[in-house]
Amino acid sequence: MLDINSKPSNKLVSNFLSSIVYYKEFILINLLIILILIFVVDGISLLPVLIISILAANVIAFYFIGKKRNKELENIKSIINNISQSKYNNEDEIQLSTKLISLQDAIREMFRKEKNDIENMQRLQKVRSQFLANVSHELRTPIFAIQGYIETLLSGAINDDKVNRNFLEKANQNTISLSNLLNDLIDISMIESGEMRMSYRYFKINDLINQVCQENKKLAEDKNLKIEIKPVPDDLQVFGDRDKIKQVLINLVQNAIKYTEKGKVEIIVEEEEKQAKIIVKDTGIGIPENYIDRIFERFFRIDKARSRSIGGTGLGLAIVKHIVEAHHSTVIVKSKVGEGSEFSFYLKK
Ligand code: ADP
Repeated sequence: MLDINSKPSNKLVSNFLSSIVYYKEFILINLLIILILIFVVDGISLLPVLIISILAANVIAFYFIGKKRNKELENIKSIINNISQSKYNNEDEIQLSTKLISLQDAIREMFRKEKNDIENMQRLQKVRSQFLANVSHELRTPIFAIQGYIETLLSGAINDDKVNRNFLEKANQNTISLSNLLNDLIDISMIESGEMRMSYRYFKINDLINQVCQENKKLAEDKNLKIEIKPVPDDLQVFGDRDKIKQVLINLVQNAIKYTEKGKVEIIVEEEEKQAKIIVKDTGIGIPENYIDRIFERFFRIDKARSRSIGGTGLGLAIVKHIVEAHHSTVIVKSKVGEGSEFSFYLKK
């Protein structure tokens, strides 16, 4: 291959070699000129002189074309080196001659894309390490608590009837938290790796809501709460992944129960022309306005201690958001502190 970084002594040769790529064009032009000369020049004696002159002109042309080509190649090579060594801050620093403007634009485009990719990678890296730090912290909390209760029991509290049952119940509560966290982490990792496959079909929304209601009845009754359903015509079918929508409803209903002390939880379906609006409403503590956008972030909780003590993982709404968005819909939140919250989303009919 041609070395365009050759030493000055070799530069002359290098310039000639560089233009050799155009040899076919040179041969063609020379043949044409010679043919024209044969017809035009009177007398054969002048012909050798003219051919020698043409060849000399060829050598000079070869040299200058090669020199120019080398310069351009060197420039391009140095730009590529600078990009690979991240020496440019701005695309305007990438300059080629005006004749190579389209190449310059293409290199700038490549630079923009690479810069973007690097920034995305750095951002992802940061999110990942933050996520890992959160996961470790979340795992440590219940494990330390379980360890603490068991150690206290082993060192004598097991014989103290006033505390032993209570400590066991607390240890048990922490194992439930741990299991909830692991289940949510499995879901999040499936979402991340793209393994959470959706399987869309039509299903009866009333049946699903009844099922979710039945499965969470006990949880609500333990807190003296009622779950009310406002049904739609029995044959109303919506389009989506039934199992994933069930998970969304379970997360929303369980949150509604967790963050409500008195009153009720309602699951409402409002039928519209082309879609159905599914609403989970509670009469609970509500969400301050400045937190409404943040509650969908992983591990974000308004009251960390409260959420943990009731088995919350801080991942439920992140999972809800992902599933609803995979259905080309969004989760709408309305809430008033002290009055209650309403989470809703649309599904196609
Ligand atoms: P968690 O496991 O902590 O409930 P989520 O991701 O489900 O995590 O919810 C994030 C936070 O949003 C909760 O910690 C809570 O502060 C708030 N939140 C969610 N649902 C409700 C609700 N129905 N009423 C009041 N606050 C809620």
